[in-house]
Amino acid sequence: MDTYPRYPDLCGWNALLPPRPATAPLQGTEQASVVIVGAGYTGLAAARRWAQLRPDDQVMVLDAATVGEGSPGRNSGFMLEIALADDADAQAVARMNAMNALCRDTMGELAALVAEHEIPCDLAHQGTYRAAATARGLASLGAYEAFLKAAQLPYERLSAQDLAARLGTAYYQGGLYSPDCYLVQPAALIRGLAEALPPSVQLFENSPVLSLRKGAGGWSLRTPEGEVRAPTVLLANNGYAARLAGGPLGQGVGAVTPVFTFAGLTAPLTPEARGLLGSDPSWGLLPAHRLGTTLRLTADHRLLARSFYDDRLPPSPQAFQAGLQDALDRRFPALAAEGATQITQHWGGATGITYNGTTFFGGVEDGLYAAAGCNGGGVVKGSLFGRLLVDEALGSLTVDVKGLFGEPPWLPPNPFRHWGFSFLTRRWRREAGAEL
Ligand SMILES: Cc1cc2nc3c(=O)[nH]c(=O)nc-3n(C[C@H](O)[C@H](O)[C@H](O)COP(=O)(O)OP(=O)(O)OC[C@H]3O[C@@H](n4cnc5c(N)ncnc54)[C@H](O)[C@@H]3O)c2cc1C
Repeated sequence: MDTYPRYPDLCGWNALLPPRPATAPLQGTEQASVVIVGAGYTGLAAARRWAQLRPDDQVMVLDAATVGEGSPGRNSGFMLEIALADDADAQAVARMNAMNALCRDTMGELAALVAEHEIPCDLAHQGTYRAAATARGLASLGAYEAFLKAAQLPYERLSAQDLAARLGTAYYQGGLYSPDCYLVQPAALIRGLAEALPPSVQLFENSPVLSLRKGAGGWSLRTPEGEVRAPTVLLANNGYAARLAGGPLGQGVGAVTPVFTFAGLTAPLTPEARGLLGSDPSWGLLPAHRLGTTLRLTADHRLLARSFYDDRLPPSPQAFQAGLQDALDRRFPALAAEGATQITQHWGGATGITYNGTTFFGGVEDGLYAAAGCNGGGVVKGSLFGRLLVDEALGSLTVDVKGLFGEPPWLPPNPFRHWGFSFLTRRWRREAGAEL
């Protein structure tokens, strides 16, 4: 079984950026104070925190991919400061508010890093739309609105006409606008965060960890060309953490599983095509159903669509292209008729999923810790959990992470996991209907 994702396609966001030289892969035998597996939002936040608390330690970060091209560069760029609609619970406002405050602080830290290091990633505090195309979607927005109201969070309720006027699509029956979200070019963000790592952190790209073993002198991690030993290892490799950690089947970090979702970007819209859109010059829209389609109009006037899930990475990059194109064309028929919605870049990306949407956080074995499974919202949450994981490993954690965020329940091993995933996604796709 692969211990890391191997993509058959290129990350569309990364392809828009200038080429960047990768750091050298791990070679030979090394020793470190701590090894962090994964240079995503979780791993880089952990590296920053460790370097801050233990500036004289040697911190090594190993990533299977190059920064920008791997999983953290492949997302849709929503940086949520408050609970996802699926997680929001109007009956548990005090707990949700405490979680939101942590996410908001983390977002503030990320925005400060972007400003301090002048990371050119189009970060903008634009808020987000959530829109429903079906009666079921409207009902789910109603539940989210109840949470926003109970938590006294600002939002606007929007009619179909409001959405059409702002976004240029008459596809939706209604929606909510919440200001508590930033939008970003994710590959540019993760590249900038890697550049901004403190000097005591050494990053090795193209260094997939193939095995993790405990020996007399601590942990040993093997990559294709090297080996590193360290007393402490932090697993920040999301859905692939359990493939290194082992442990009881389907429990703990084994309750996190990799799931892939797919996205595409158009070329920049011409001024004429933009004339067919609404008044907002750029925006992001999240679906009212968990299996629905995410949309963005980017700062450089491209449309993005993200949809579909699979628990195996399809061998062909073409697998979901027709479906994504159809999702975009249904929402913008006038633009489609002009040929302006043609998706020119397609990619898939891995995320770590748990059955109840919570993240695995904490110790796995002596000297081995993991934060994995941020589901669809890991840009901010991963950054939060990466920082907190270091506090946990160094014995200074003051947040009751499991009490606040919960714990993932047991997941059956394969092939039952695969059958369960296929059954549930088929059912949810039927439910989602026009939200797809
Ligand atoms: C198409 C798509 C759209 C999404 N949209 C959003 C969004 O808009 N907002 C949001 O918040 N979230 C979104 N997500 C989810 C988000 O990308 C993740 O939750 C987030 O990236 C998690 O961060 P992470 O650092 O924990 O893990 P990841 O970003 O997955 O990073 C893990 C890193 O570990 C590396 N790795 C894995 N295995 C190994 C190994 N064995 N050895 C070495 N390195 C390894 C990987 O190469 C990767 O760089 C989306 C995901 C996808 C795929």
